[in-house]
Amino acid sequence: MIVDFHTHSTASDGELSPVQLLASAVAAGVTQFAITDHDTIDGYLKVSKQVPKGLRLYSGVELSCVWGGVNIHVVGLGFDPEAPAMTAMLDRLSEARAQRSVTIAERLAKKGMAGALEGALAVAADGQVGRPHFAKWMVSEGHVADVNEAFDRFLGQGKIGDVKAFWPTLAEVTEAIAQSGGVPVLAHPLRYKFTRTKLWAMTKDFKAAGGKAVELLNGRQTPDETLILTRLAKELEMRVSLGSDFHRSWRYGPELGVDSRAIGTELKMWELS
Ligand code: AMP
Ligand code: MN
Ligand code: MN
Ligand code: MN
Repeated sequence: MIVDFHTHSTASDGELSPVQLLASAVAAGVTQFAITDHDTIDGYLKVSKQVPKGLRLYSGVELSCVWGGVNIHVVGLGFDPEAPAMTAMLDRLSEARAQRSVTIAERLAKKGMAGALEGALAVAADGQVGRPHFAKWMVSEGHVADVNEAFDRFLGQGKIGDVKAFWPTLAEVTEAIAQSGGVPVLAHPLRYKFTRTKLWAMTKDFKAAGGKAVELLNGRQTPDETLILTRLAKELEMRVSLGSDFHRSWRYGPELGVDSRAIGTELKMWELS
């Protein structure tokens, strides 16, 4: 079975519209799917009433939060999109993103890049604004050569544009998903560059707050990485999830769809309770 429980549309920083994303998923043979935009379910809501035959679409979102001073992502799956705990958290996160954008723009202005807020908002169009939109604006203005340079020098983890002050805690976003009837999934656990001790500690805190699963596969990764995540899930008795983290089609990035056999026999996929 081909599944994909981590993807992005134009409602956040993906390049396909929600309709295009579903069509591409079907074309890739995906039968179980979720659109998990950053801090918004607008993309999911656009297509939730017109799902192509043969595709099961779960509600989905990727929530931003902070743990140990690091920006962490928690994917929520199968929640009630109208649950007060979810709508309140999404409102709060939209506000946080708006405030964060102002701070990022102020910091970029100090580095000689004026007009970043207006620029990034224009790139985001009616989607949830994020650092990738700032990066694209910086490229278009000639401040950096490409998006990679924008993240390496200004926007990536620990750089001036990595503003975490406005994010809720890991426990808060995890509880919001659980209270909305959804499954909280720790997104790409190895992306935070934690030591093993810290990664295990974070995952324990996540589980204590109601976290149910960790992403065993996120886009392209090495067998060594999958082995660490297998141990994490087994030792902490967590379910697992699989996702491409697809943003757009390009030669260095993952395409849509993950073979569910990647889970093997010892681990179990997340499921709705
Ligand atoms: P934000 O949601 O605004 O905090 O931005 C985080 C997003 O930026 C991630 O979901 C990625 O899509 C993207 N991103 C993070 N690091 C990089 C990078 N080094 N190069 C390109 N995109 C990145
Ligand atoms: Mn993204
Ligand atoms: Mn993420
Ligand atoms: Mn993602």
